[in-house]
Amino acid sequence: MTALITDFFAFPVSRGKVQLTWTLNSLDWHTLKLERVVDGGAPELLDKVIRGEQYLDDKAPTGSLNRNIEYRVSVEGLELPPFTAFTGETKRDPEAAEHAIGQRILLRKFGFPVALFSVKSTGVRCSCYNVVRGRSDLDDCPKCKGTGIAGGYADPRIIYMLGESREKKNVSVVEAGEIEQSDRVLWTNADVKVRNRDVLVTAGGGNRYRVESVEQGSIRESPTRQVVRCIDLNPTSAEFDLEIPPEMIQILQRQPGRSMAL
Ligand SMILES: [Zn+2]
Repeated sequence: MTALITDFFAFPVSRGKVQLTWTLNSLDWHTLKLERVVDGGAPELLDKVIRGEQYLDDKAPTGSLNRNIEYRVSVEGLELPPFTAFTGETKRDPEAAEHAIGQRILLRKFGFPVALFSVKSTGVRCSCYNVVRGRSDLDDCPKCKGTGIAGGYADPRIIYMLGESREKKNVSVVEAGEIEQSDRVLWTNADVKVRNRDVLVTAGGGNRYRVESVEQGSIRESPTRQVVRCIDLNPTSAEFDLEIPPEMIQILQRQPGRSMAL
């Protein structure tokens, strides 16, 4: 049996900000209680969210490696021990922290901007949802894009990605926003979680891909890297209707500093 909450991660996104993400394996209206524990002290209540799957802690005491921050999420009304996650940077693991900083710089300098549409896994069921089959009956439903949940996707966020290192395969590196036909494997760091079925948009909004699989890399339990395999979306697919705000299109048109052999 799958646990009620899985994939609970705490990613430092910038100084003082930690993004919490998790998967709630239930469509019930659970109330989730989020707490922060600093250096083994008393748990502080951050917030309560109903049926959510992410939360931004914008008052996290990060920035110091000497801080050990634990996050807890528990389900109200259920006598279960809380699910826990540690921030990658604050797990008293200097190697992972240094690695994370290096990757962030590398991606911002040489990576290309990508709009990430995260697929919703909870929310209001779409009218196309088939309770018996446990999924949408309509792969190209205009209301939920075949996800079975109204809207289908969260608002897009910008992440930076690079072609996956392919010294083993001896393939040239992906240029700004152009993903090679044959080999659509990209990587990003662990700051924002990428999931199967997420949609990636590059090249000013022109190219769209669907995530087929994500491989997590870590250094001693601190997530560091995500290797994302994706396929082209057909221009007739419902995901092509996902709208990108104009200011985001401008970001997507930016080129990285220069291309770089990895
Ligand atoms: Zn639908």
